[in-house]
Amino acid sequence: GNQASPAPQVPRYVRVNTLKTCLDDVVDYFKRQGYSYQGRAARLEELSSLSGKQFLLDPHLPDLLVFPSQTDFHKDRLYVAGHIILQDKASCLPAFLLSPPSGSHVIDACAAPGNKTSHVAAILKNKGQIFAFDLDPKRLATMSTMLVRAGATCCELANQDFLAVDPRDPKYSKVTYILLDPSCSGSGMVNRLPGEETAPSSERLRALAAFQRKALGHALRFPALQRLAYSTCSVQQEENEDVVRDVLQEHGSAFRLVNVLPSWPHRGLATFPAAQCCLRACPAATLTSGFFLSSVPQWEPPCGAGG
Ligand code: SAM
Repeated sequence: GNQASPAPQVPRYVRVNTLKTCLDDVVDYFKRQGYSYQGRAARLEELSSLSGKQFLLDPHLPDLLVFPSQTDFHKDRLYVAGHIILQDKASCLPAFLLSPPSGSHVIDACAAPGNKTSHVAAILKNKGQIFAFDLDPKRLATMSTMLVRAGATCCELANQDFLAVDPRDPKYSKVTYILLDPSCSGSGMVNRLPGEETAPSSERLRALAAFQRKALGHALRFPALQRLAYSTCSVQQEENEDVVRDVLQEHGSAFRLVNVLPSWPHRGLATFPAAQCCLRACPAATLTSGFFLSSVPQWEPPCGAGG
């Protein structure tokens, strides 16, 4: 029988778009709408005990507000104006952990529909350059509308296969940060349609993992790279820990994983030696949903290398 228990209620996360507004103004706005602000949560448990019109500041992420799960802001004025982005907490982790300094050149390898791109643009304060690639023209069109709404002006979109982007092209010679969020099985998504809950077939997983390994290996060829964040919304070890392990082995000692966000409670699968350096997210352990972020390793060049 089906032993899966119902997904625990996941709160509604609201990312404040600092390209258009600031945390204080958004907090004031919601107070005027009758919500009661509880300040910054000290512990994750506080997020699950929100009720009525209460809201909190997330304990991990600086510009992320947390509301009770049934709250819907899709028609809210701030959402329509691009002042707030309705984005699950797990999907905010890659850009937050990448944290490129303002002025950096960044590649978003598989970018559409662009929630992570606009988050990176906010972290850059629109200073610097994001080269965003995606194969799917429809998704790119949506992304371009979304970026205008979010006020992200530092992005160059290209309908291009990331694997065909030449790392030696002088255009990318200053790319120091890469966000890689490749196509995946989506097995971590909580709000899947009925009948979609079955695990992906092994053929599908093999094909996805082959692409993910290629994309990760390719990303590591950019000569000025200092840090990379790899994420998927899959729970499958084949798409996560295994991809990272295989590609790191191929690249020898040139890159290593670093331990990030030590306060995050849910880490990579213990079968992987560097599990401690990976983050997993799921409704039960981290109260995240809709998007399932299974691992965010980061690479840093060995001492003396890079700039
Ligand atoms: N990062 C996006 C966000 O946060 O909104 C979501 C990205 S989605 C998981 C993966 C994307 O990769 C899809 O839009 C897909 O079209 C794109 N993609 C797949 N293969 C690609 C390739 N070879 N080069 C570039 N993009 C690719």
